[in-house]
Amino acid sequence: RVLLEVKDLKAVVKESGQEILRGVNLTIHEGEVHAIMGKNGSGKSTFSKVLVGHQDYDVTGGSVLFKDQNLLEMEPEERSHVGLFMSFQTPVEIPGVSNFDFLLMAFNARRKNHGLPPVEPLEIEILQQGSKSLAQPMRIFQSGQLLIVKSSFSSSSSSPLHPLFLLSFPILSSLSLLTGMSVYRVSDAGHVLEADLAILDEIDSGLDVDALQDVAKAEDGMIVKTGDVSLAEQLEREGYRGISMS
Ligand code: ADP
Ligand code: MG
Ligand code: MG
Repeated sequence: RVLLEVKDLKAVVKESGQEILRGVNLTIHEGEVHAIMGKNGSGKSTFSKVLVGHQDYDVTGGSVLFKDQNLLEMEPEERSHVGLFMSFQTPVEIPGVSNFDFLLMAFNARRKNHGLPPVEPLEIEILQQGSKSLAQPMRIFQSGQLLIVKSSFSSSSSSPLHPLFLLSFPILSSLSLLTGMSVYRVSDAGHVLEADLAILDEIDSGLDVDALQDVAKAEDGMIVKTGDVSLAEQLEREGYRGISMS
């Protein structure tokens, strides 16, 4: 079944009218994993953001069907309710709102949309050696096969990389192991929200000055070549120089 069908999508920066996407075509079937690769500034992040309805861009042409529905007519919130999820290249830090709270809010918004009551996170006291308990109880909630745990081990609860534990149930039995783990993968958030399609934009790679010059020049805004994993391997080996439009 076709999950996403993008045809000749064109988009401009709202403020300046500058065209970034110049006719993107992409079809994704259920169960497929696609990697969009391209030089800095070629429009990968813009494409992702246009799909989720980011306010900075205007679509000037083409169509996007997601599960047979016209995505471009939907508000960003509706897009997430129909099962589209995007993790941002640069997560926005909202003071006082941890990843845990954000995921819980989004998870509950989705439940509400399905007519389900919100979940209340459980609070668990973890005892350290002896009987000393940690400063704060640990908060957890469950989504499908995952248990989302807010750790109380970090001092900064508002950091976007605040440790958040996403555990599958086999690991659950050894809750005490938690103290040793601090893995937060943005990609897991799509799983938590039971998205049908997760768009995972690259984590910002910290561009140096030369690379930033490249960003300003590139802007191809099109998918020029499609292939299997061997194409990705070729790009890793040879870079983008050998890739032409034909
Ligand atoms: P990539 O993710 O492939 O590195 P981007 O989508 O971030 O590329 O950027 C593509 C081009 O569009 C760049 O030249 C970038 O400067 C420009 N661009 C993207 N978003 C905006 C914006 N909001 N305002 C102005 N220019 C933008
Ligand atoms: Mg980039
Ligand atoms: Mg990008």
